[in-house]
Amino acid sequence: RMMKRQIACRGDINRMNGAFLATYESLIPPEEEKSKQKQLLALLDGIVSKEWPDARLYVYGSCANSFGFSKSDIDICLAIEDANIDKSEVLLKLADMLQSGNLQNVQALTRARVPIVKLMDPETAISCDICVNNVLAVVNTKLLRDYAQIDVRLRQLAFIVKHWAKSRGVNETYQGTLSSYAYVLMCIHFLQQRVPAILPCLQGMEATYCVTVDNIKCAYFDKVEKLYGFGSHNGESLAQLVWAFFNYWAYCHDYANDVISVRSGSTLSKRVKDWTRRIGNDRHLICIEDPFEVSHDLGRVVDKFSIRVLREEFERAAEIMQYAPNPCVKLFEPY
Ligand code: ATP
Ligand code: MG
Repeated sequence: RMMKRQIACRGDINRMNGAFLATYESLIPPEEEKSKQKQLLALLDGIVSKEWPDARLYVYGSCANSFGFSKSDIDICLAIEDANIDKSEVLLKLADMLQSGNLQNVQALTRARVPIVKLMDPETAISCDICVNNVLAVVNTKLLRDYAQIDVRLRQLAFIVKHWAKSRGVNETYQGTLSSYAYVLMCIHFLQQRVPAILPCLQGMEATYCVTVDNIKCAYFDKVEKLYGFGSHNGESLAQLVWAFFNYWAYCHDYANDVISVRSGSTLSKRVKDWTRRIGNDRHLICIEDPFEVSHDLGRVVDKFSIRVLREEFERAAEIMQYAPNPCVKLFEPY
């Protein structure tokens, strides 16, 4: 097993906290964006209900999980009960109706991994992607949002990590690096592991929310208002957590043997999941278990080239957090 390198955090780390908090604040979307999103959603609802009166629109992804930056695109799921529908047909029909409804840049991508219709609303200048019956994404969006309610440091840390990943070009799944969703799960796992823990494991608690989607039972404790103050025994600041997060991924995570698992609130061994060898295109070089679709490794997009890019970026970030005079500037320098 890999040696876990223990290094002490720099003594002046808390001097950086104000800068990290200010960066976080600057990325939060202003209130007026929410009302524009609502306006667009109402417009789309009107168009959709003409053709499918029983269908519903759900916002998922960064606009609903509380990890969205200002000016994010909206991800929308059109949920239609009828099990016999043909998704491509629905998307093509939807694209037609949106076009007649004066929305711009309407495009149906029926062959994508997640088939969608793209559009831009000229009124609000918001772009959005609409998919059909991707209800699992709506449920995992709720899980992320519920975790974010428990301790504000999750949202703060995830904003810094996402901003770092976007600045450094390692938030591009088509280039073999990780999705925003994967980075947020890495942050949740990390805060579950702090001693004392900053986040609980909601899926390990009594289930107060339970739905079955695509034959997958999704159950967890969602009365998060009962968990306010859960992490208050841990006084770590945002800057300390950013330091420790990068230190963990640079020097402490056991890439050869471990899977991170938010579902179980700990790491699992790759052997137990049978993720030890390459199967098809899944190489399992960094393993992040999806909380509900547990056979799904969110690190599957990472290949033997991009794992090096990713690990070098974690090491660069860890070095900056340890030694740079001004880490909150240096960390986000474009690559
Ligand atoms: P960004 O601000 O970068 O747009 P985002 O929160 O919208 O971030 P994405 O990675 O674009 O994150 O994913 C959008 C949503 O799609 C996620 O919140 C999640 O619900 C779902 N999702 C994305 N990737 C996966 C995946 N590999 N497996 C399951 N669900 C996923
Ligand atoms: Mg998105």
